[in-house]
Amino acid sequence: MHINTKCIQSGYTPANGEPRVVPIVQSTTYKYESSDAMGDLFDLKAEGFFYTRLANPTVDAVEKKIADLEGGVIAVMTSSGQAASTFSILNICKAGDHVICSSAIYGGTFNLFNKTLRDLGIDFTFVSPYISEEDLNKEFKENTRCVFGETISNPSLDVLDIEMFARCAHAHGVPLIVDNTFATPVNCRPIEFGADIVMHSTTKYMDGHACALGGVVVDSGNFNWNNGKYPMLAEPDESYHGVIYTEHFGKAAYGVKMRTHLMRDIGAMQSPQNAFLLNLGLETLFLRMERHCANAQAVAEFMESQIAAGKVSWVNYPGLQSNKNYELAKKYMPNGSCGVVSFGIAGGRAGAVRFMEGLKLAAIVTHVADARTCVLHPASATHRQMTDAELEACGVTPDLVRFSVGIEYIGDILDDIKRALENV
Ligand SMILES: *Cc1c(COP(=O)(O)O)cnc(C)c1O
Repeated sequence: MHINTKCIQSGYTPANGEPRVVPIVQSTTYKYESSDAMGDLFDLKAEGFFYTRLANPTVDAVEKKIADLEGGVIAVMTSSGQAASTFSILNICKAGDHVICSSAIYGGTFNLFNKTLRDLGIDFTFVSPYISEEDLNKEFKENTRCVFGETISNPSLDVLDIEMFARCAHAHGVPLIVDNTFATPVNCRPIEFGADIVMHSTTKYMDGHACALGGVVVDSGNFNWNNGKYPMLAEPDESYHGVIYTEHFGKAAYGVKMRTHLMRDIGAMQSPQNAFLLNLGLETLFLRMERHCANAQAVAEFMESQIAAGKVSWVNYPGLQSNKNYELAKKYMPNGSCGVVSFGIAGGRAGAVRFMEGLKLAAIVTHVADARTCVLHPASATHRQMTDAELEACGVTPDLVRFSVGIEYIGDILDDIKRALENV
């Protein structure tokens, strides 16, 4: 099936007389006829639902849809994107291990890795997404256990050379994990370019309506964990009667272990209600992404035209031919990248503030990537505590405006921008 059909049809096939729409199974528990029947589930000898912290029929249907969309063998949904990032690393790393990570990542992921996971004893090396293959190869150590990056980064909109990062990771016997939140599987399927694990904040385009937090981790099933580096997958797990995940679950080893181990112990499960809402979003994902990208392209081109008029200093959008990521974006996302555009308003911080005040349709929110056009001036919001010099150092200039283009009628979005630019 084509990806557009999968958005609607995958994951759930009702039997005779069953509900056509994935039902919300609002139950924490599941009944069995005997203790032995339930015991087999706990021993991982039989498949079935026994407690919603581990698996739930609504969540299960949506997990199967997302696994199919990304071309993976198993998906595990989490309560948020942050939980998905945490699980993707903790599933294969422990104190004393090392991770190589692109520096162009979401700020929340950076804090999670650089503070919380570092405090737990996992070491991180951050590298430029534009690092050469030769230099990237030099960053691997004996204890490196994975490489992490974002297809298209939030908010800097850098594009990851997935094939190159995967090639280096594989040459050193470790997997590449890709956060595919901004591109979505409609615009890019990292597994087709060599990524081994794909994760998402489903809170963004996948839900697309800004109503349900969620995350997901998808296992491609392609990585060979039997190379001596991953005893947690390839040696007996004493907390599960000595099961060896790679022997018992084959290609789904990483995904099953995430569920039976991390979800059991940490419990960051997505709720059935949120999974139901997410599924409604997924059904129109391919329609919405097309419009997000077309609208964002029009906004980016209009803003670029305002540079000559002295209203705008610069525009960053991978769909612009002038953009440093244009060629990479064309290779990995030929049908469009995402709906987020960033630009600098003339007059620096003060100009950006005046521009923001002039907007009516575009709402000032911290969220990105949903149906409604929204806008953020990081220097006066998320990065407020930083000085101008500190802002420059982390690539968020005082004049930077992050504009998340929605799916409204483009004429109305452009009229809103034109009116706001009159203030500048
Ligand atoms: C928002 C975001 C996250 C975190 O997701 P939450 O659902 O907010 O926890 C992770 N990665 C990227 C790229 C994001 O944009």
